[in-house]
Amino acid sequence: MGEPARELAEVIELRCDAGKLLAKVLRSGEQPQFVKPDNLIELACPDCKTRRRHAGQRVQRVLHRYSILGELIETLVVEGD
Ligand SMILES: [Zn+2]
Repeated sequence: MGEPARELAEVIELRCDAGKLLAKVLRSGEQPQFVKPDNLIELACPDCKTRRRHAGQRVQRVLHRYSILGELIETLVVEGD
């Protein structure tokens, strides 16, 4: 059994706090380096926008921010019509 050990690729799922899958990041090889503390991935979430609008909020966009490790760090609500 001479299978060479392969670098394991890791799929990081970026999920909304409501559970919706927004993106997948395929990571392989070395650990990611943080170039600055707020090196985040930002994704707009249509589900959260719709939910907030149904609740009567004036919302233009809801943005979820993730770390490169897939942790939801913060949620930004951009108000407007
Ligand atoms: Zn969301």
